[in-house]
Amino acid sequence: MNAFEALGLNEQLVQAVTDLGFETPSEIQQKAIPILLSGTTDFIGLAQTGTGKTAAFGLPLLQLIDPSQRHAQALVVCPTRELCLQITNDLEKFKKYSKNIFTEAVYGGASITMQIRNLKKGVQIVVATPGRLIDLIERKAIDLQQVKYVVLDEADEMLNMGFRDDIDFVLKNTINRESTWLFSATMPPEVRAISKNYMDSPKEVTVGKKNSGNANIDHQYFVVAQQHRFEALKRLIDFNPGMYGIIFTRTKADAQEISERLAKSGYEIEALHGDLTQQQRDKVMGRFRTKNLQLLIATDVAARGIDVDGVTHVINYELPDDMEVYTHRSGRTGRAGKTGICLSICHSKEIYKIKSLERMINAKFHKVDVPSGKEVCRKQFFHFMDTLMQADVSHGDYETFLPDLMEKFADVSKEEVLQRVAALEFNQFLKYYENAEDLNRNEMRGDRRQLNAKDTRNTGRTERSDFRRRDNGYTRLFINLGTKDGFYKASFLQFILDESNLKKEVLGKIDMREMNSWVEIDKAEAGRMINAIDGKRYNNRTIRMNEADGGYRRPADDNGSRDRKKSFAPRERRSFS
Ligand code: ADP
Ligand code: MG
Repeated sequence: MNAFEALGLNEQLVQAVTDLGFETPSEIQQKAIPILLSGTTDFIGLAQTGTGKTAAFGLPLLQLIDPSQRHAQALVVCPTRELCLQITNDLEKFKKYSKNIFTEAVYGGASITMQIRNLKKGVQIVVATPGRLIDLIERKAIDLQQVKYVVLDEADEMLNMGFRDDIDFVLKNTINRESTWLFSATMPPEVRAISKNYMDSPKEVTVGKKNSGNANIDHQYFVVAQQHRFEALKRLIDFNPGMYGIIFTRTKADAQEISERLAKSGYEIEALHGDLTQQQRDKVMGRFRTKNLQLLIATDVAARGIDVDGVTHVINYELPDDMEVYTHRSGRTGRAGKTGICLSICHSKEIYKIKSLERMINAKFHKVDVPSGKEVCRKQFFHFMDTLMQADVSHGDYETFLPDLMEKFADVSKEEVLQRVAALEFNQFLKYYENAEDLNRNEMRGDRRQLNAKDTRNTGRTERSDFRRRDNGYTRLFINLGTKDGFYKASFLQFILDESNLKKEVLGKIDMREMNSWVEIDKAEAGRMINAIDGKRYNNRTIRMNEADGGYRRPADDNGSRDRKKSFAPRERRSFS
């Protein structure tokens, strides 16, 4: 029996999620769906972002709706317009085979008359942002008397954004409510209060640790001087040529300014912040979602709840003041079981924040050096050469020109061709990075004064030996196997060495977690290990291994669906300011 069917979902819904490629329910889906299908139990689901909460409430909701009744039976309330559209969009897909169920997204910034007209057509599920919902209720466009189910999605965010009164109003006035379902990443006292006031002995389910980060995310930080933040950002982008990323700033002004500066240098980047009109926001989001935009730079409010598939990197241009915001930011990557990287550019004064973040999300942050100009160029260069070698030449009538070309190049060596191609593609780039300075701030330097002599020596030494290790040519690999797969360090070591036919000597530190591990390995052997292991099956799961710091990835194989749909060639960024 299909695992979704086993949860009690009907055939139409099971078929729809199967079409979406969902094979097994996520943990929150597993736990929530059977409870919610009863229709009469109040429910609190605590789960971090990217765990599949939308289907956890969306599927039971669709099954509970009575298609013969054409009035509002369910309300889904969520914090932002983007999220509202996303949920509606997901529901559309889930109800592909379910007949006569109608949904409508209502949110501010769009024509209310249009929304009223659509609601009048007999919509059963209304997905709404709080402000517009109240508006519609006051205009009597929605009849709350008939609403049986109320879902509060991202409840903590709604409260953070000041929607407390609106939520109270909705809950107070849905008097025939049969059940209330609340989803949240965290459980601050305000959320607790809502459950106390409006819910009847709710079943509470927590997935993962409360406040815990996502184990698929590799957290890295870079220590730079304040005036080097922008330059460091640029290097991180350049060092990760295939990056599909979201950059977070604290202020709209920063987001705007940085996006303008980078766009001027030829980067595909746009800003998303509250000063844009809804139309502009939609346009930006649309371009990003379809990967016609490589980078999005956003403020926290603007990016709330956005679920975009395959975001590889989140970059904190500055660390947020509120540590919980970090969880929300980093949650934009590493979704649906994929891995992601969250990079934070820090000032040495912010290092204490890293320590408290480590405690809070119970994950280790890795200090990584901002790459040097040389490293960046090397990376870009190899990326370009990879792209070149993967170019599709199966279409087009190259044969016609080949003989002439061959003749023209008869006396030119391969080396020379490569050099010229590189020059054409990279002259500007190389020039820009020619005299690039080292942006790394040794975090110990600033603090040394505060340490006594003995500590200074100790810390100083560790720091230096860390550097030596990196210079010795180790790189770190990520692998999605961990203790959960039944491994201990020794058996794990044996496994990766056997699979790759490599000797123990090439390895450095091994860092094992429950869900995944990091392996330090001689740079020269990293490619060999990845090629041997990445893509293999283990216990019915595909093993994924890649360079943790955004380096070597196995080139796509023939059915190489693991690679991103589109790789962003450096071509698009030829000119540099
Ligand atoms: P959350 O609301 O918890 O942040 P979403 O509901 O937005 O997470 O889901 C995150 C991503 O995971 C979406 O792209 C969704 O399509 C995908 N997803 C959800 N459930 C499953 C599943 N059972 N199997 C595979 N992918 C899933
Ligand atoms: Mg969600």
